[in-house]
Amino acid sequence: MKLVDLHTHTTASDGTDSPALLMAKAAEAGLEAVAVTDHDTLSGLDEAADAGRKYGVELIRGCEISTATELGELHILGLWLPDNPVQLQEKLAFLRRKRAERNEGIVRKLQELGLDITMEEVLATATGESVGRPHIAEVLLRKGYAKNSREVFKEYLGCHGKAYLPKEVLEPEESVRLLADLGATVSLAHPMLWKGPSGWLDTQVARLKDCGLNAIEAWHSEHSEADVRACLSLAKRFDLGISGGSDYHGDNKPSICLGTGYGKLRVGVDVLESLRQRRMAAGLPV
Ligand code: AMP
Ligand code: ZN
Ligand code: FE
Ligand code: FE
Repeated sequence: MKLVDLHTHTTASDGTDSPALLMAKAAEAGLEAVAVTDHDTLSGLDEAADAGRKYGVELIRGCEISTATELGELHILGLWLPDNPVQLQEKLAFLRRKRAERNEGIVRKLQELGLDITMEEVLATATGESVGRPHIAEVLLRKGYAKNSREVFKEYLGCHGKAYLPKEVLEPEESVRLLADLGATVSLAHPMLWKGPSGWLDTQVARLKDCGLNAIEAWHSEHSEADVRACLSLAKRFDLGISGGSDYHGDNKPSICLGTGYGKLRVGVDVLESLRQRRMAAGLPV
């Protein structure tokens, strides 16, 4: 069966492949379609679309928005974004400004800890407009402050790290509504990465469905087979669609391959077609 990948990151945010290179790799891997879903930016989508046409891979225009609940983060994917979503662009610009403030705060904390790092070095590492902790990690790694990115996050940048600062994000309801109002297909990204009390996820899904949530990301590199089954059951109970993708980040997560994740991930083209059917039934463009 032909495969697709509906969750990927490029150099527009914290991936390491340019949008064009990612689409070239998708063609090489035999993928039928790819959703580029960078964090807080749409700036990679036009390049990905051009490359997709050149290599014969369908691009689904997307993005990923981090949101916070009282019990932790939920990530929201928007798929089939329109070409020029003004309101979304404004909100993403706000989120990028908040990222910039946070990055400056993190760099200041690192400097106070005695590390030799500047914001200029971080910005020189990022080629896209959405800058985050992986870019700071890259500078620290290059300077030998840790052996690998896992260590950098454990020591400095992760939520228990010495230079950690939280990121100001949206509420999940607001993000879902924003995307749904544009006619995007809204999917709850990797829901099983959040290990909360039983029943909590159901409550969230029920609430977000009322705001326009359309789907659950069942297949994901970090989801076990049991996680996938739990997501399929969740989607069925709430009459939601199903999406799936690797969450590919290139060399920033070197063990995760485009399309196949850690090696076993398979998202069939039927998953994409089912989402498309749901859109057609709702009168949305495909
Ligand atoms: P930010 O958006 O700036 O908060 O950074 C989040 C990104 O950092 C995630 O998408 C991951 O790519 C990366 N990340 C978060 N935690 C870790 C970790 N423990 N090890 C490696 N990368 C991480
Ligand atoms: Zn990322
Ligand atoms: Fe995510
Ligand atoms: Fe992601």
